[in-house]
Amino acid sequence: MANITIYWFRNDLRFEDNPAFLKASLESDVLLPIFCHRKEELIDNNYSRIGVHRKIFLRQTLNKLKLKLKTMNSDLLEVHGEVSEQFKKIAEEIHATKIIFEKIIAPEELEEEAEVRDLGIHVETFWQSSMFDPSQLPFEVENMPDIFTEFRKCIELNNTEIKEPIPSPTRLPSLPNKNLNFNSQTDFSMLSQYKYSSFPYLESLFFGGEQTALTHLDNYLLKKLPHTYKATRNQLFGIQFSTKFSPWLSLGCISARYIAFKIKEFENEFGANESSYWIWFELLWRDYFRFIHFKYGKNLYKKNGLNKNPVIINHNDKKFNNWVQAETGNPLIDAGMRELSLTGYLSNRIRQIVASYLIYDLNCDWRKGAQWFESQLIDYDVYSNQGNWLYIAGNGTDPRGGRKFNTEKQDLEYDPRNLYKKLWQKD
Ligand SMILES: Cc1cc2nc3c(=O)[nH]c(=O)nc-3n(C[C@H](O)[C@H](O)[C@H](O)COP(=O)(O)OP(=O)(O)OC[C@H]3O[C@@H](n4cnc5c(N)ncnc54)[C@H](O)[C@@H]3O)c2cc1C
Repeated sequence: MANITIYWFRNDLRFEDNPAFLKASLESDVLLPIFCHRKEELIDNNYSRIGVHRKIFLRQTLNKLKLKLKTMNSDLLEVHGEVSEQFKKIAEEIHATKIIFEKIIAPEELEEEAEVRDLGIHVETFWQSSMFDPSQLPFEVENMPDIFTEFRKCIELNNTEIKEPIPSPTRLPSLPNKNLNFNSQTDFSMLSQYKYSSFPYLESLFFGGEQTALTHLDNYLLKKLPHTYKATRNQLFGIQFSTKFSPWLSLGCISARYIAFKIKEFENEFGANESSYWIWFELLWRDYFRFIHFKYGKNLYKKNGLNKNPVIINHNDKKFNNWVQAETGNPLIDAGMRELSLTGYLSNRIRQIVASYLIYDLNCDWRKGAQWFESQLIDYDVYSNQGNWLYIAGNGTDPRGGRKFNTEKQDLEYDPRNLYKKLWQKD
């Protein structure tokens, strides 16, 4: 019997270092690559769950992926709506024998997986979104240390090495011989690009897609920026103060392992320092927020998170809306919230400051803040977003409790000359 496979692209929109896609390409006689767009969803009847920045970046990425597939005599079928319903229809039509995809262990994504499994077609999933594979960890991932520093030390003491990325498929199986509609929207309405964006995704160097991600990494290394990363990473704006890998990582245009491996090669050639180490350190935070999902799963999505003490939140919609609309009256917070909705990107420092302000100064529900970030951030990543919000709210694994940032102190330290606030003040 012929192996007729559906490859479901999720947050792994790449060829390079994509074990699941390589396996699908090697083991199938017929292969149908699919991307499924989630149904449009309005949060609080008010704003779209996937905001315009993320929509455009995704569109750019899918267009590039489609083109690449076409150069290899394949294509990308884009479908909309419930994944299982779509797959049921298509699987029947093409007589699919298998569905292969990347595993995502956040609650909604696991539900989607369960529904696909219920179709009764053979399913294979691959964990492939972290820098380290869970099997490389010196402990069972479900028993990992709760505290990040302990987690990091275990990995360092164990000398856990980054594995070599795996190559792209060199050929792809043919498409099913059926009349499928491969048309997709290849155009997107151009927003007037905000010229001060720290991640100007309407400029070609910042487009979504695998090739741009790889070129961005090459340029980052060519400019030897890993050697200065630690000194600049807390700045508030600009193109080069941090790596800007996150939007491409979030859609899987590039893998964390690939980045870490290339940075190791860079260190071997040009020397390692505290700065180049620190990129690895931050990517390890990314892994950590993934791995705590193996341990705590759905509990990370409760109002209390992992907090055993009662969490009392007097959420106030008016205050929340002021925060969203950059009308809190605090110039630093309003600058940050304006930058977020105009560009879809915020530095890590400003993310921390505005999140803390929402939770501790406005006493609002941290989950509402996380939802707003989900809608707006061009680099939205379910694990990192949830993990960071939990951490600041004090409902995660951190025994020190929440992280309240003193906004005035942060302002004096990071924007003493008011440059950031001026950049994003209302006209
Ligand atoms: C409230 C809040 C929400 C966040 N939501 C997201 C999100 O949805 N998606 C996302 O990718 N990051 C999120 N972050 C983490 C971090 O702010 C971004 O990863 C970083 O700012 C992206 O820019 P960069 O790639 O230039 O980062 P760099 O400073 O250059 O870091 C390199 C890479 O390390 C990883 N990294 C850095 N800091 C963190 C961190 N705190 N947690 C996890 N990974 C990290 C990212 O993959 C990043 O691309 C959030 C942080 C906070 C405080």
